[in-house]
Amino acid sequence: MADARAAGLNLLRQHALIAGEAVTADKTIAVDDPATGEIIGHVPNLGAAETERAIQAAHDAFGGWSRSDPHGRARILRDWARLIDDNTEALGALMALENGKPFEEAKGEVAYANGFIKWFAGQAERLIGETQDSPLGHVILTFRQAVGPCALITPWNFPAAMLTRKLGPAFAAGCTAVVKPASQTPFTALALAELAYQAGVPKGALSVVTGDAATIGGVLTASPLIRKLSFTGSTPVGRLLAEQCAPTLKRLSMELGGAAPLIVFEDADIDQAVAETIKGKFRNSGQTCVCPNRVYVHASVADAYAERLAAQVARIPVGPAFDPGVKVGPLIEDKALDKVEDHLRRVTGSGARVLTGGERHALGGRFFQPTVTLGGDDTLFRAEETFGPLIPVFPFETEAEVMMKANDSDFGLASYVFTRDLDRAMRVARGIEAGMCGVNTGLISTAVAPFGGVKQSGYGREGSIHGIDEYVEIKQATLALR
Ligand code: ADP
Repeated sequence: MADARAAGLNLLRQHALIAGEAVTADKTIAVDDPATGEIIGHVPNLGAAETERAIQAAHDAFGGWSRSDPHGRARILRDWARLIDDNTEALGALMALENGKPFEEAKGEVAYANGFIKWFAGQAERLIGETQDSPLGHVILTFRQAVGPCALITPWNFPAAMLTRKLGPAFAAGCTAVVKPASQTPFTALALAELAYQAGVPKGALSVVTGDAATIGGVLTASPLIRKLSFTGSTPVGRLLAEQCAPTLKRLSMELGGAAPLIVFEDADIDQAVAETIKGKFRNSGQTCVCPNRVYVHASVADAYAERLAAQVARIPVGPAFDPGVKVGPLIEDKALDKVEDHLRRVTGSGARVLTGGERHALGGRFFQPTVTLGGDDTLFRAEETFGPLIPVFPFETEAEVMMKANDSDFGLASYVFTRDLDRAMRVARGIEAGMCGVNTGLISTAVAPFGGVKQSGYGREGSIHGIDEYVEIKQATLALR
């Protein structure tokens, strides 16, 4: 494991990248290892001037890149993917260091992230237009053309995958990009960008700007040269960015927060439901926007489910990323623990019992015990995502009641249902107000599945055959033929 750590640190670059150029600054931002709080490095705290330079580079590179042969872009994407595969250990280690997720899980994220690049390499080869006879006697041709230079703002919970999910389709379509990674986890993005240049992505087509989020975001959103913003993060910031983009009418993709319901009916395979709840919930230590936030279990099986769940959750190994066998790591920052504690206090205050966990972990720092509660009031969990290792379980009586509760939320990203009744599964999957529904599974994210939400969880779809649509305009040419 010491080797892996060293390999990860070997990829760590303490500079931003503007059109391929390494840029430093006197003012810097420290990045720590969430497991220890130790500083692992610094990135420059860049501002408006550097952001403008990156935008100009993306604008200048756009003409050539967008008109380049899409098969050539596909080859570059595949070369990039090969380099990422070759560097899986080092990238995984770097991500484990800055994010805190277990090393094995981090390597899994590298593969997941690379899936987007591989998938969209294929999509570059399928930018297919149409022909149509017009009622005016003309022939209409459609072309799918790159939207323009894009601003891509990414969060810290999936430092690699949230980036490739945007850059894969952007490059496939022929867009150029200015990336603003989360300040907690900038190193993975910088390492990926370096590999992208090595693979042949033109320097001007990709910049990674680190620094004050509001300043950089303000410049990116105000710029008339940026034609699209793709954002993954919290709903309040998404709303603010959408407002800031209104004057220049940018295309927008918004992947925002969730408050995912997970429903277990009385006819479900309880062991399967328990296993899948754990897989879905404890990914990235509970810090994903598709983590089940509130579990509803039919009253007749609630005790059986909750007891089995608690027994298994109690045995989940918690620890720093490089300890063998660890499944749950630290939370990203101190205030994340405050939120888990607040949610726990409020649900127990409304009558819930703690079945396992319930406290900060003996490891100290940012570690929290994986926790299961049973009962109490679910209202809080419809409105706010915990983003930590707490599973509140609430018994319900009828399908109508649980559907009302599931849908009584401003959010609508992921949802999950466990039942052996096919009719019921279809009713719930179609009736639930969410962009995604896992039926008898807790894992719904892959490069080939459309990912995205409804309501306050945002709009747009990433991944799948639809992901590239976010980065293309439909151009039509009407031909008058004699
Ligand atoms: P989280 O709660 O997951 O940190 P945020 O929405 O705060 O979610 O952050 C997601 C991304 O948005 C990060 O890269 C962060 O730096 C960036 N961000 C936060 N505030 C702003 C802002 N005002 N303008 C632009 N980007 C922002």
